[in-house]
Amino acid sequence: MTAPFAGGCRCGAVRFEASAEPHHVSYCHCGDCRRASGAPVSAFVGFLVDQVAFTGKALKMYENGPVTRSFCGTCGSPIAYVDERLEDDIYFMLGAMDAPADFEPTQHAYVGEQLAFLHISDDLPRHLKTSVKRPDGTAP
Ligand SMILES: [Zn+2]
Ligand SMILES: [Zn+2]
Repeated sequence: MTAPFAGGCRCGAVRFEASAEPHHVSYCHCGDCRRASGAPVSAFVGFLVDQVAFTGKALKMYENGPVTRSFCGTCGSPIAYVDERLEDDIYFMLGAMDAPADFEPTQHAYVGEQLAFLHISDDLPRHLKTSVKRPDGTAP
Protein backbone atom coordinates (compact mmCIF):
# COMPACT_ATOMS: atom_id res chain seq x y z
CA MET A 1 0.00 0.00 0.00
CA THR A 2 1.18 3.49 -0.77
CA ALA A 3 0.11 6.89 0.53
CA PRO A 4 -2.16 8.75 0.34
CA PHE A 5 -4.84 6.71 2.09
CA ALA A 6 -8.36 8.02 1.68
CA GLY A 7 -11.60 7.34 3.45
CA GLY A 8 -14.98 8.75 4.29
CA CYS A 9 -18.48 8.16 5.54
CA ARG A 10 -21.33 6.16 4.08
CA CYS A 11 -22.94 9.13 2.27
CA GLY A 12 -19.75 10.86 1.11
CA ALA A 13 -20.31 14.14 2.97
CA VAL A 14 -17.17 13.53 5.08
CA ARG A 15 -13.91 12.70 3.31
CA PHE A 16 -10.36 12.49 4.62
CA GLU A 17 -6.91 11.64 3.37
CA ALA A 18 -3.71 10.61 5.15
CA SER A 19 -0.43 11.45 3.46
CA ALA A 20 1.72 8.83 5.23
CA GLU A 21 1.61 5.22 6.43
CA PRO A 22 -0.47 4.40 9.50
CA HIS A 23 1.54 3.73 12.67
CA HIS A 24 -1.08 1.53 14.31
CA VAL A 25 -3.84 -0.89 13.28
CA SER A 26 -5.73 -2.73 15.99
CA TYR A 27 -8.99 -4.24 17.11
CA CYS A 28 -10.72 -2.75 20.13
CA HIS A 29 -13.14 -4.84 22.16
CA CYS A 30 -14.05 -2.17 24.74
CA GLY A 31 -17.63 -1.38 25.65
CA ASP A 32 -17.22 2.29 24.76
CA CYS A 33 -16.26 1.51 21.15
CA ARG A 34 -19.06 -1.06 21.05
CA ARG A 35 -21.64 1.59 21.98
CA ALA A 36 -20.19 4.15 19.60
CA SER A 37 -20.03 1.77 16.64
CA GLY A 38 -22.93 -0.57 17.35
CA ALA A 39 -20.71 -3.48 16.31
CA PRO A 40 -19.41 -6.33 18.51
CA VAL A 41 -15.81 -5.31 17.80
CA SER A 42 -14.21 -2.22 16.30
CA ALA A 43 -10.94 -1.79 14.46
CA PHE A 44 -8.88 1.36 14.10
CA VAL A 45 -6.17 2.72 11.82
CA GLY A 46 -3.90 5.24 13.55
CA PHE A 47 -2.18 8.11 11.76
CA LEU A 48 -0.35 11.23 12.88
CA VAL A 49 -2.93 13.99 13.05
CA ASP A 50 -0.75 16.47 11.13
CA GLN A 51 -0.61 14.04 8.19
CA VAL A 52 -4.39 13.96 7.83
CA ALA A 53 -6.66 16.38 5.97
CA PHE A 54 -10.47 16.48 6.04
CA THR A 55 -12.81 17.77 3.35
CA GLY A 56 -16.55 18.34 3.60
CA LYS A 57 -18.53 20.11 6.33
CA ALA A 58 -20.62 17.36 7.92
CA LEU A 59 -18.13 16.16 10.58
CA LYS A 60 -19.67 16.23 14.08
CA MET A 61 -17.89 15.61 17.38
CA TYR A 62 -18.91 13.89 20.59
CA GLU A 63 -16.67 14.54 23.57
CA ASN A 64 -16.49 12.04 26.43
CA GLY A 65 -13.76 12.78 28.94
CA PRO A 66 -10.38 12.87 27.18
CA VAL A 67 -11.77 11.10 24.09
CA THR A 68 -13.56 12.85 21.23
CA ARG A 69 -15.28 10.71 18.62
CA SER A 70 -16.29 12.11 15.26
CA PHE A 71 -19.08 11.04 12.97
CA CYS A 72 -20.91 12.23 9.88
CA GLY A 73 -23.72 14.62 10.81
CA THR A 74 -25.65 13.56 7.72
CA CYS A 75 -25.47 9.75 7.66
CA GLY A 76 -24.15 9.04 11.19
CA SER A 77 -21.17 6.90 10.17
CA PRO A 78 -18.49 6.83 12.89
CA ILE A 79 -15.26 8.28 11.50
CA ALA A 80 -12.49 8.63 14.08
CA TYR A 81 -11.46 9.18 17.65
CA VAL A 82 -8.81 11.35 19.20
CA ASP A 83 -7.54 11.22 22.78
CA GLU A 84 -6.17 14.40 24.35
CA ARG A 85 -3.50 12.28 26.07
CA LEU A 86 -2.28 11.20 22.60
CA GLU A 87 -2.31 14.61 20.99
CA ASP A 88 -0.25 13.63 17.92
CA ASP A 89 -2.58 10.80 16.89
CA ILE A 90 -5.90 10.23 15.19
CA TYR A 91 -7.51 6.80 14.92
CA PHE A 92 -9.92 6.17 12.04
CA MET A 93 -12.54 3.45 12.05
CA LEU A 94 -11.05 0.78 9.81
CA GLY A 95 -14.38 0.53 7.99
CA ALA A 96 -14.19 4.22 7.07
CA MET A 97 -11.11 3.60 4.94
CA ASP A 98 -11.72 3.30 1.18
CA ALA A 99 -9.49 0.18 1.07
CA PRO A 100 -10.12 -1.50 4.44
CA ALA A 101 -8.53 -4.77 3.30
CA ASP A 102 -5.17 -2.96 3.19
CA PHE A 103 -5.15 -2.40 6.95
CA GLU A 104 -4.73 -5.70 8.72
CA PRO A 105 -4.84 -5.32 12.49
CA THR A 106 -1.68 -6.34 14.36
CA GLN A 107 -3.11 -6.51 17.90
CA HIS A 108 -6.23 -6.69 20.04
CA ALA A 109 -7.07 -4.15 22.76
CA TYR A 110 -9.41 -4.55 25.74
CA VAL A 111 -9.84 -8.30 25.39
CA GLY A 112 -11.04 -8.18 29.01
CA GLU A 113 -14.28 -6.71 27.60
CA GLN A 114 -14.47 -8.98 24.55
CA LEU A 115 -17.86 -10.63 23.95
CA ALA A 116 -17.64 -14.30 24.87
CA PHE A 117 -19.31 -15.49 21.66
CA LEU A 118 -16.87 -13.58 19.46
CA HIS A 119 -13.91 -15.64 18.25
CA ILE A 120 -11.17 -14.23 16.06
CA SER A 121 -8.55 -16.90 15.54
CA ASP A 122 -5.15 -15.28 15.10
CA ASP A 123 -1.90 -15.20 17.03
CA LEU A 124 -1.81 -11.44 17.48
CA PRO A 125 -0.87 -9.85 20.80
CA ARG A 126 -3.89 -9.45 23.09
CA HIS A 127 -3.95 -6.61 25.59
CA LEU A 128 -6.27 -6.70 28.58
CA LYS A 129 -6.62 -2.92 28.29
CA THR A 130 -5.35 -0.37 25.80
CA SER A 131 -2.87 -1.26 23.06
CA VAL A 132 -1.50 2.30 23.04
CA LYS A 133 0.14 3.50 26.24
CA ARG A 134 -1.11 6.84 27.53
CA PRO A 135 1.59 9.08 28.99
CA ASP A 136 -0.14 8.97 32.39
CA GLY A 137 -0.51 5.19 32.24
CA THR A 138 -4.32 5.27 32.20
CA ALA A 139 -6.74 4.23 29.52
CA PRO A 140 -10.21 5.35 28.53
ZN1 LIG B 1 -22.11 10.76 5.71
ZN1 LIG C 1 -12.34 0.80 22.43
